[in-house]
Parts: sequence; C-alpha cells; structure tokens
Amino acid sequence: MKKYNFNAGPSLFPDSVLEAAAKAIFDFDGTGLSVLSYSHRTPEFEAVVEESKSLFKELLNIPDNYSIYFVGGGATTQFFHIPANFLYGKAGYINTGVWTKKAIKEAKLYGTVEVLASSEDRGFRYIPKGFEIPADLDYLYICANNTIFGTEYKVDLDSPVPLIADMSSNILSRPIDVSKYAMIYGGAQKNLAPAGVTFAIIRNDMLDKIERELPMMMNIKNHVDNNSMLNTPPIFPIFVLRESLRWIKAQGGVEEIHRRNEEKAQMLYAEIDRNSLFRAPVDEADRSSMNICFVMAEGKESLESKFLEFAISKGMVGIKGHRLSGGFRASCYNACPKENVEALVACMQEFEKMYK
Ligand SMILES: *Cc1c(COP(=O)(O)O)cnc(C)c1O
Repeated sequence: MKKYNFNAGPSLFPDSVLEAAAKAIFDFDGTGLSVLSYSHRTPEFEAVVEESKSLFKELLNIPDNYSIYFVGGGATTQFFHIPANFLYGKAGYINTGVWTKKAIKEAKLYGTVEVLASSEDRGFRYIPKGFEIPADLDYLYICANNTIFGTEYKVDLDSPVPLIADMSSNILSRPIDVSKYAMIYGGAQKNLAPAGVTFAIIRNDMLDKIERELPMMMNIKNHVDNNSMLNTPPIFPIFVLRESLRWIKAQGGVEEIHRRNEEKAQMLYAEIDRNSLFRAPVDEADRSSMNICFVMAEGKESLESKFLEFAISKGMVGIKGHRLSGGFRASCYNACPKENVEALVACMQEFEKMYK
C-alpha cells in the first residue's frame, strides 16, 4: 500500500534527493569513492560545504555581512551554545511551547532570562503579539515555528535588540527578511537533511560579542572561522543537505516552495474547518503551514482512536498528535507532495460519511 508520510521529523525527501544520496554512497561526485568514507579535508568535500553555503545565501537572499556554518549536536545543543556565547546580562525569550521552554531552561545557566510573553495560558495555541522589547537585552529569542503545537510567526519581527530564531521546522518554507535577524539556526532534519547536521546563519558583528571563555567546540566563532570543519563534520547529512538545496533551487526557489506550502496548508485547514467531525485548535492567524494540528470537534471526541485507525488503514503515517497536544498533526514540510495532503483530505471526507 502507498504510504503518506506526515511525520514531524526526521522528514521525507523528494525522490531525486534520495537517488542522489543513494548514488553518492557508492560514488561521491564522480570520485569513485563512497561519501561515507570520504575525507572532509579534501577539495571535493569543501566544495560541498561551499555550494551549500552559497545555495543558502542565494535562496534566502542572505546579505554579505552574514556567515553560514554547519555543526553537529542538533538544535538542542544550540539551546545552550546561544546563551553561552551571547548572554552576559539579560536576554528576552518568548515562550511558545516545548522548544522555547527547553531553551529558556538552558539560558538560565548563563544569565538572567526575561520571558517577555507566553502563550501557555491557552495551551500554546497562539503566538503572543504586541509585547514590549526592552532595549537593554543581549538578544531576543523566538521559535519561529512551533512544531508540536502548530503555531508559526507569519512576519519577521522588528526588534531593537539582536533577534535569534529557531527555524528548525520552517527553514526555507517561505521568503524571510534575513536582515531582521542576528542569528537563524535549526536542526536540519525537519526540512532539509537527515538528522545529524544543524545549520546556522549569523550576522558577523555577533561574533565580536563573544567574551566568555568557552570550550573550543562551544565557541561559535571557531565554527565560522574554520569553515564548519573544526572537527569532522556530519559529512553525509551535509551532502544530502546540498542535494535538498539544489532541489529547492530547481523547483523555482523559496517563492515557489512557499506557494506550494500555502496551497497544501490551505487545502488541509479548509477541510478541517469544513468537516463536521474536526476542528483546528490554533488561532487562525497563527496557524503553522508546516505542522497542521487538528482535533475532533466538540462532542465527537470519542471518535479519535477510530479516526487514527482508519487513517492508518488508508496509508497515513505519523499523524498522531504529540503526546502534549493530543489530537492529530500532519507535518507538511517542503518536500511533502500535494498528493499526500489530497489523500489525507479524502480520508477525512470518507470518515465523515461513515460517522456524521
Ligand atoms: C525538532 C526541534 C528541535 C530539536 O531539534 P534537535 O535537532 O532534535 O535537537 C528544536 N526546535 C524545534 C522548533 C524543533 O522542531
């Protein structure tokens, strides 16, 4: 049976990227050697890193005063790298769920954290707005897309202090104004690469703010200065990252990817709103285009496990909601074909006919 993958991560890939990855396991870029055994300190692998950086730069219109680097450890490692490098007095955090809570906890090890706004009062079902940003903060930290609760910042915030954003689950899903951010980073496994590589885009003046004496691997400047080769980088994930970036470019760039993402998200939210058995728990203005959460409509809660079983029988994979938010979540990342969303919509319609 055909499977429709809606897992929140690691995410799915276009077939062409998988084919390139499979080929490179036997023959990396025509070298006759496997990418799995290739040395990172070679012109061939350095070319992969350079191309990945320049594709990032081109696809997101990254200004010249920014550096891009790749590192291991996942987004979770950046939760403490960021305050270790940049928090000396106070930092502002916006609490929008699990990933910011974890980041806040780590930041408290290095300085004072002011939670400027939180959406915890309504179960993280919205993005706080209109909060004051004090001018004396070392930085303001946000999670641009909340993978678990399905909320997303739809605009690039104006911040008087350096703005740092976790874009693990929405990187390259829409055009962004990079100049509004001091740092953008994320685990690449949601939208770009296999697990194992973290991407970061950082404004160069941030590198001059690092005062703390840090272990070599924790100092962000070392990763930039050593061109992501401070130690053995995650070679295979970076290779696949390059293939994903090439794929995005070949599709027509981030504008086209964004158009497709909006089309998929609108199709699914429209069905959730129309279908008498389901509802969307997130405020309409803040609904994520990547992680689409839905629950059973009021009075229909007892059908939850039946729908899950039905959806699985129709080939849907990974639509059970996170244990903290319940219900369902369909993650529709960049590489998710429209066909998958059409199949889920058809499945919801069929279920409605059975249980209306
Ligand atoms: C998955 C996720 C993380 C954690 O990423 P790891 O790479 O597993 O550490 C952090 N932030 C967001 C928004 C995520 O979706």
